[in-house]
Amino acid sequence: MAKLQNDNELIFRVAIAVPVYRLFDYLAPDNIEMIPVKPGVRLEVPFGKTKKIAFLVECVQHSNIDRGKLKRVERILDKKPLLSIKDLALLHWASRYYHHPLGEVFSAAFPVALRQGKSSVIQTEKRYELTVLGKALDSEQLKRSPKQKSVLEMFQAHPSSLSEAELSAWNQNWRGSVKQLLDKQLVQLDVAGFGINRILSVAEGNRASIIRNNALRCNPQQQAAIDAVCDRLGQFGVFLLEGVTGSGKTEVYMQIIRIVLERGQQVLVLLPEITLTPQLEDRFRQRFTVNIAISHSKLTDRQRASAWLKMQQGECSILLGTRSALFTPLKNPGLIILDEEHDASFKQQEGFRFSARDVAVVRGKLLNIPVLLGSATPALESLHNVDNKRYSLLHLPERAGNAIAPVLQLLDIRNKRMQEGLSEALVAEMHKTLAKNEQVLLFLNRRGFAPTLICHGCGWVARCRRCDANLVIHYDEGVLRCHHCGQEQRLIRQCPACKTGELTPLGLGTERVEKVLAELFADKTIVRLDRDSTQRKGSLENYLQQINQGEVDIILGTQMLAKGHHFPNVTLVAIMDVDSGLFSIDFHAPEKLAQMIVQVSGRAGRAEKPGRVIMQTRQPEHPLLTTLIKQGYNSFARTALAERKEASLPPFSYQALLRVQAVDAEMPKLFLHAVVQLAGEHSKGHTQILGPVAAPMARRAGLYRYQLLFQSSKRPELHALLDILMPKIEKLKQAKKVRWSLDVDPVDLY
Ligand code: ADP
Ligand code: ZN
Ligand code: ZN
Repeated sequence: MAKLQNDNELIFRVAIAVPVYRLFDYLAPDNIEMIPVKPGVRLEVPFGKTKKIAFLVECVQHSNIDRGKLKRVERILDKKPLLSIKDLALLHWASRYYHHPLGEVFSAAFPVALRQGKSSVIQTEKRYELTVLGKALDSEQLKRSPKQKSVLEMFQAHPSSLSEAELSAWNQNWRGSVKQLLDKQLVQLDVAGFGINRILSVAEGNRASIIRNNALRCNPQQQAAIDAVCDRLGQFGVFLLEGVTGSGKTEVYMQIIRIVLERGQQVLVLLPEITLTPQLEDRFRQRFTVNIAISHSKLTDRQRASAWLKMQQGECSILLGTRSALFTPLKNPGLIILDEEHDASFKQQEGFRFSARDVAVVRGKLLNIPVLLGSATPALESLHNVDNKRYSLLHLPERAGNAIAPVLQLLDIRNKRMQEGLSEALVAEMHKTLAKNEQVLLFLNRRGFAPTLICHGCGWVARCRRCDANLVIHYDEGVLRCHHCGQEQRLIRQCPACKTGELTPLGLGTERVEKVLAELFADKTIVRLDRDSTQRKGSLENYLQQINQGEVDIILGTQMLAKGHHFPNVTLVAIMDVDSGLFSIDFHAPEKLAQMIVQVSGRAGRAEKPGRVIMQTRQPEHPLLTTLIKQGYNSFARTALAERKEASLPPFSYQALLRVQAVDAEMPKLFLHAVVQLAGEHSKGHTQILGPVAAPMARRAGLYRYQLLFQSSKRPELHALLDILMPKIEKLKQAKKVRWSLDVDPVDLY
C-alpha cells in the first residue's frame, strides 16, 4: 500500500554496491519517526527485482528524478551509523581518489555479514580458561592423550582465556579435547567473557595491569624511535621505521602500543600475510592483558564481523589484521601500525584497488593520530616521502640482542656444472653446513615441477587454451596446470602433435628441486614450503613447528619464505636463481627483487649463529646485485630512486592504468580508442596518455586484454582529468561490451 508522497518529503540519497558511479534516490521509509537519520546508516532498499543493502549518504529536499518514480526505503537497519563522521569522510576520499564507485567502497569497509544486513549486535563466542587445577597440572601427566596434553599446553601458554575462534585458528579439531578437559575440570567456561587476568586489568585500571610480562630493555635507537612516536600521540604524523629483520621493530611496536593503551586508546596493526598473524598474536598475547581482535580472510564471516564490532564498540583494544581490516572503526583510535609496509599485498589488486598503506596515512590524518610504517626494505615511495619530509625516518641500524647480520655473496655459475639448478659449489657448502647440524634454506620462486613441457621431437609446448601462458607441470599430482586461470589437465605421456617425440620438462620448479635434494642428501629431512605443499589448513604451522624444533635439515620454498617467518637455526640461505628477476618489463621489478633478496636473507642466523647468503647468478657484475651486496638496501634504493627520477617514473610522476578485457579480440582496443579520444578533449599539458597497448599477457582466462596508461607529473591534473573522464567512460557505448577497471597508483603493470 503505497503511501502518498508529498513534495516536502525528504529524499534519501544512498550508495549501493554496484559498479556504477552514481548514487540512488529513494523516498524516506514509512516509519518516519526514526528521523533524523544520520549518514552512514545501513538501509534496505528495493533494487530492480531484488532488495539490496544501501548506505545513506545524505538526506536532500530535491531529486532530479520525478518523485512519482522513486521507490521507498523499506527498512533502516542501524539506529546510529556504525562508522564515525571521520571514517565516512575517509570513504568519500577513497572513492574520489581511486575513482571507484562509492557504494563499493562503503561495502569494502564493512565485514560481509554486515554488508548483507546482519545485525550489529555482537554474537558472543564462548571462551574457555584454565581452572586452578588446570593451571597447576604438569602437562606430562596427560602424556597418554597427546591431544589433551597439547590443548592444556596451549592454555598454559595463554594465561588469559581463549575464544572458540582462537582455538579454531590454532587447531580445527579442538572441541573433543576441550570437552575432555572440561570433564576433568582442568578447563572451564569463561563466563564473564574475560579471562581472570583481564578482569583484574579492567578492575585495577592501572598501568601495570596492561602488560603481562616485562618489556625488554631497549637499545638507544629503539628508545629514540619509541620516544619520537610517543611524542606525537594525539597528533598526526607518519613514521617510517627502517630496520633489518631482527633489529627489534616488533619490540618497538609493543612498547609504543603499551603507551597508547595506557591512554585508553586502541591500536590497529596491519600485516601483509595471514600466516604471520599467529606469530605476532602470540607475542602480543604474551605481552598484553587487553582484549585482542583478529581479522583476516580465513576467518568465518561471523568471526570477522565480531572483531569489527568489538573494535567499534571498544571491547577490544588491539586489532591484528590484514589489508581488509584497514577500515575497521575504532572507538578510541590511538595509533595505526603497518608492518612490512613495502609488501605488495597491501595493494588490493581487484575491485576497489586501494593501497592500504596510502589509505592508512590519510586515515591517520583524519583521525589525528600517528601512523607507523615498518620495514627492513622500505618501498621506494616511502623513502621518497622521507626525502620530501612527509614521513619521518626512524632507523634501527643493527640487529637487537647479540645476533649478527648475515653475509651476502654472489656465486658465479657461468660455465659451471649444474644439477637441477644446484651448482657443485653450492652443494658443497650445503654439506658443510649440514655437517655442523645447522639448517639450510633454499629459495626458488617457482612452484610446480617445471614451468614448461616441451616435445623433444617436434618442439610442441603445452600451452593453456585460455591464456597466453605455458602449462606448469605438477608431477606429484599428475597434472598440467595454468597458474593464471587455474585450468588443468592430466599430465600427458605422448606428444599430441607428432605422437612420437619424447616430452621433456624444461626449467625448474620447487617440486623438481625437492626430488634432486632427496637424492643428493638422502639421509637428511627436507621440507618444501610453497602454496601447493601448504594448502591444507594447519600444514604450514606444522612445518614451521618441525623446522623450529630442529627436525628439518633443508627448507626449500618460494616467496612464502620471504615473509616474516623466523628460522633461528638456519645459517645458510641460498637463492637459486636471482637472474630471472633481473629482466622484466615492469619498472618495479628491480625494487621487488632487492626486497626479496634482503627479506630472504633476513631469515638466516637470527640467534647467535652468524648466517650466510649465497646467490647463484650468471650476472655477477650486475649493478643492482653489486650495489645491494656491497652497500646495502638503502644505497640500492637511492640508486633506484635516481633512475626513476631520470625516467620520470613514480614516485616522480603519477600513474593510473585503465585495464580492459573482453571475449571479443577487437572490443578492448575499440573501447580504449574511444577513451583516448574523450581524454584528448580534456587532457592538459602535463598528462600523457600511453597506449592503447596489449597487456603483457594479452589473453587470460579466455579474455583479450588491453590497457591504457595515464601518467602525469602533476597529480591534481591527472585526477582532474580522471574526474571528468570516468563518468563519461561509463557511458560509452563500447563500455557495455567490455570489462574495464581503473587502477590508480598501480604497483604492477600486468
Ligand atoms: P623485528 O621485528 O625487527 O624482526 P624483533 O622485535 O622481533 O625484530 O626482535 C628480534 C629479536 O631480538 C627478538 O627475539 C627480540 O626478543 C629480540 N630483541 C628485540 N629488542 C631487544 C633488545 N632491546 N634487547 C635484547 N633483545 C631484543
Ligand atoms: Zn612432438
Ligand atoms: Zn590459463
